[in-house]
Amino acid sequence: MSKFETIAIRTQSERTQHREHTAPIFATSSFVFEDAEQARATFAGEIEGNIYSRYSNPNNDEFIDKMCLLEGTEEGISTSSGMAAMFTSIASFLKSGDHILASRSLFGSTHQIITELLPRWGITHTYVDIDQPEDWEKNIQPNTKMIFVESPSNPALDLIDLEALGKLSKAHGLILNVDNCFTTPYLQNPVKFGADIVTHSATKFIDGQGRVLGGAVLGRADLIQEVRFMARHTGPALSPFHGWILSKSLETLSVRMDKHCQNALALAQFLEEQAHVNFVKYPFLPSHPQYALAQKQMRAGGGLVTFEVKGGQAKAQKFLNQLKMLSLTSNLGDTRSIATHPASTTHSKLSPEQRQRVGISEGLVRISVGLEHIEDILEDIAQALV
Ligand SMILES: *Cc1c(COP(=O)(O)O)cnc(C)c1O
Repeated sequence: MSKFETIAIRTQSERTQHREHTAPIFATSSFVFEDAEQARATFAGEIEGNIYSRYSNPNNDEFIDKMCLLEGTEEGISTSSGMAAMFTSIASFLKSGDHILASRSLFGSTHQIITELLPRWGITHTYVDIDQPEDWEKNIQPNTKMIFVESPSNPALDLIDLEALGKLSKAHGLILNVDNCFTTPYLQNPVKFGADIVTHSATKFIDGQGRVLGGAVLGRADLIQEVRFMARHTGPALSPFHGWILSKSLETLSVRMDKHCQNALALAQFLEEQAHVNFVKYPFLPSHPQYALAQKQMRAGGGLVTFEVKGGQAKAQKFLNQLKMLSLTSNLGDTRSIATHPASTTHSKLSPEQRQRVGISEGLVRISVGLEHIEDILEDIAQALV
């Protein structure tokens, strides 16, 4: 059992006496012991076993076992949301007086944690522009502990050279933490390039159907031990029901991602031909400035396409208003195609200068390309682009 599809389908928690084919949902807060000695030994960590669902649960274990195998990491923990994963993975390693280096283009709430919350605990940060690779090394300080990045970035879809960053963080003894939500383990495995921790929002492509929140922190056993301690005592636990859904979702991740990528590439190629479009960004379009890097570190281009409508914000909003099928929501990674205007919604908290630095112009539109028939997606977009 070595192939992605097989691992995602065949990794299962132990069957109960009912010999069920699919794992049942273990909706239980705690687990009973055979006797006092088993309770003592389980609490002491001398034998493995479930104690309480804040620490472990068979559904969440099945989900996380698959995630570890698919990302190529030794261990992991599941969390109740992507943000719980991001926060726990940062808080487990940083203390007062430490410094974190992060890419400027980050998911909004991760940006808020680093900019607004970490300073309350005396943790400082520096943001590095994604197009200035030499700035990473320049900004490492004696108290730097972690590098936190997302690649591709949201919504500009710029890439970070993960291998270069992996080497840099190793040379300086830092923890490289990569939010791999946009690509999922199917399209990109950051540990291959030297990442120490891989974090996920499972809410997006992993669930893939817009149903539940969830997250994961994956990495080397010694690092995950710290994360597990933090999670066990602070409680960002995943619901077993959501763990069950996410484990089932992984069974179809490869076929869904193949289709997301196929539709997204077709849309990107279509948009490049449109007179009302200034430019299109998609990692697997030869016109992407980092096409070669995309080919090296990603298996396919992903499910997101970004483009700039001619005529700025007014024209971008007109495009959104004229869409008949695509949903207007800020989510992504759903079966349904979604259109977002980042400058006025997801990234409206940034100043115009900050937006410009991360490549978010007034006319920029982000499409999360769904699994509808490509002809219907193109037809809707074509009729709205006038
Ligand atoms: C959505 C998202 C998150 C946060 O995940 P939630 O499950 O909504 O908490 C973090 N990082 C990225 C890149 C995301 O897209």
